[in-house]
Formats: sequence, C-alpha cells, structure tokens
Amino acid sequence: MLQDLQNLRELQVADREILRLKEEVAALPKRVAVIEEKLASTRAKLDKARGAAKAEDAARKKHEAAILDLQGKISKYRDQSLAVKTNDQYRALLEEIQFAEQQIRANEDKILELMLNAEARDKEVRAAEAELKVETAEIEKEKAEARERTAEDEKQLVDWNAKRDGLRRGVDPDVLRRYDRIVKFRGSGLSEVREQKCSACQVMLRPQTYNEVRAGQTVLECESCQRILYFNPENEVPLERTSVTPKRRARPKPDSQQAWFYHPSFGEAGEAFLAFLNDSTNSTRRVYELHTGRQIGDILSREGSFRLAFPEDLGAAIRLNGYWDEAEIDSWGAELPMVVLDTLLSDLAQARAESGQSSHAAASGPASSEHPAAS
Ligand SMILES: [Zn+2]
Repeated sequence: MLQDLQNLRELQVADREILRLKEEVAALPKRVAVIEEKLASTRAKLDKARGAAKAEDAARKKHEAAILDLQGKISKYRDQSLAVKTNDQYRALLEEIQFAEQQIRANEDKILELMLNAEARDKEVRAAEAELKVETAEIEKEKAEARERTAEDEKQLVDWNAKRDGLRRGVDPDVLRRYDRIVKFRGSGLSEVREQKCSACQVMLRPQTYNEVRAGQTVLECESCQRILYFNPENEVPLERTSVTPKRRARPKPDSQQAWFYHPSFGEAGEAFLAFLNDSTNSTRRVYELHTGRQIGDILSREGSFRLAFPEDLGAAIRLNGYWDEAEIDSWGAELPMVVLDTLLSDLAQARAESGQSSHAAASGPASSEHPAAS
C-alpha cells in the first residue's frame, strides 16, 4: 500500500480521537451545570420553606399577644363587677367577659392550627437541608472528576496533536488537501472498500476502480461520496460468500426490546441511525451520524416503551436489523465500531433494495411479501 494511504489511515484514527477528546472536554462543564441547576432549585425550595416557617412563627406570636391582652381585659371587668350598683350593669360586664373568652378560644384554635402546620414545615425544611447536603457533596465530587478528566484529556490531546502533525507531514500535500476537504464536508475522509463497495456510502465500485484500490498504488476517491478509498486484505470476504446469491434479509421483530432505525433527516445531523432500548419502565434513544457513526447529543431517556415515548422519531424512519448487548453498546462510547456501522449500512442497503422490489411486486398480490419456505 502507498505510504500516503497508510499514513492517512493513521491520521484518520488520530483525527477521530482528537475530536472525541475535544467533545468530551466540552461536555464535562455541561454535566456540572446540570447538577448546579438542581442545587439552585433545592436552595430555592429551602428558602421558601424557611420563609413560610418564619411568617407562621410571627402569626403565632401575634395570637399569643392578643390572648394576653384579652385576659387583661377580663380581669379588669371582674374588678369592675365587684363595684356595680345595678343588675343591668352587672349583666353588661358579664357579656363583655363572655365575649372576650370567646375571642381567646378563637385565638387558641389559630395557634393550634399553626403548630400543626409548623410540624409539616419543619419536615420540609429538614428534607430540603438533607437534599442540599447530598447535592453539594455530589457537585464537589463531579467537579473534581471533571477537573481530573479534563486534565487527562488535555494531556492526551497534546500527544495526539503531535502525532497528527507528524502524520500530516508524511502525506503528499495534494492528497492531504483532498482529505481535509472531505473531512470538512463528510466528517470522515477515508473509507474502506469491502465486497467491492465503499463502506461509508455503500455504493458499488466499478471493477476497474475496485482492482486499482485493491492494488493500493494510487489514491482513488469514491465516485459517490468522494472519500479516499483503501483496501484492507485482512477484512477480505472469502470468495464463496460473495459469489452466492445474497441471503434474504431477515425481518426485524416488531416486539423487540431493542430497535435500530434509519432516519433520513434527523435535525441538523441529516441522515442518522437511531437506537432505542426499552427497560421495564423507560426507554432510551441514542443517535449516530450515518457516515461516521459518531454519536450525536446525549442519550435521551423517557417514560414508557420507545414506540410510545418517541413517536415523533419513528414516522419517517426505516426499521433495521441489529441487536447488541446494552453493556456492549455502552462500551462503544461516542462512536459506533466500524463493524456495527457496516452491519447497519448493509442492512439499510438491503432494506432499500427490498422496498424497491416489493413496490414492484405489490401488484401481484399480498403473497409476495411472505418469506420463501427456503429461508
Ligand atoms: Zn463512498
């Protein structure tokens, strides 16, 4: 293989790693910000509960003062009653005393009510204080981790950038310019040829181009996506498998707990693969860029199974075959492994080919959509 191509392959690895590290460094403060937001909302809750407790305390003091005042009045009326001359005067004072006693009872009721409230309020304050303590500890830990991770990433970035610079010096300037231009527009500049196809865009190569790419003596581009093509003999598929008629595509199970989809226009990302995973109560969504396999955005989790939770994503999407263990999916990090990307792309190509066929066959009746007995 040409040294240029060999260097480009290593350069692609370096470019991807640099991108991944930069994205990770950028994402870390966001994670801290999310917890900080939660912390602020807990603080607000605590302030509110404390404010309410203070207001209720003031109200209780007011009622207590009113009771003292009324008791003073009653004792004054009692003194006056000793000195009255007529029954009418005596009755009038008695009525005043009864009225004051009624008011005392009303104030006592209010105080009791406030005391019951105060218990609930106390619990609220204590719960918010405990929550704040946990979250404060959490944010300190998260910040420390983010600092450590960032420092480690920055160190790796320095190494990778040095490596990248060295590799770039080893590639012909014209080839390098072509590579840079494709990376800019497509996210990746190289594509491996497998089974006579560009593995990035799945377009079939002409036999002569294929042979030249295999020979590895010239720098050739894919006619469809313009990526620079290379061939890796280690991944060569044995002849007997390519020569037989391709196996009929397996139909994805509709009730599966994991489902992969192709989405033709996922927001700014354009073409994308979507992975949905159900667990007992929730479902998650991961989005990957079609050509590079790079993960777009964070993992989104919603309540309910994915069909109910993400209906807006499924309308234009094509269901694909594919199932990987969740732990394995997590282990991929921010980029689909090439072998997974290849599997999805080739299933997509088959699904498209089949839907083309079935639209022709539809006229011949519903039996055409059945699996042949041979499968
Ligand atoms: Zn291509």
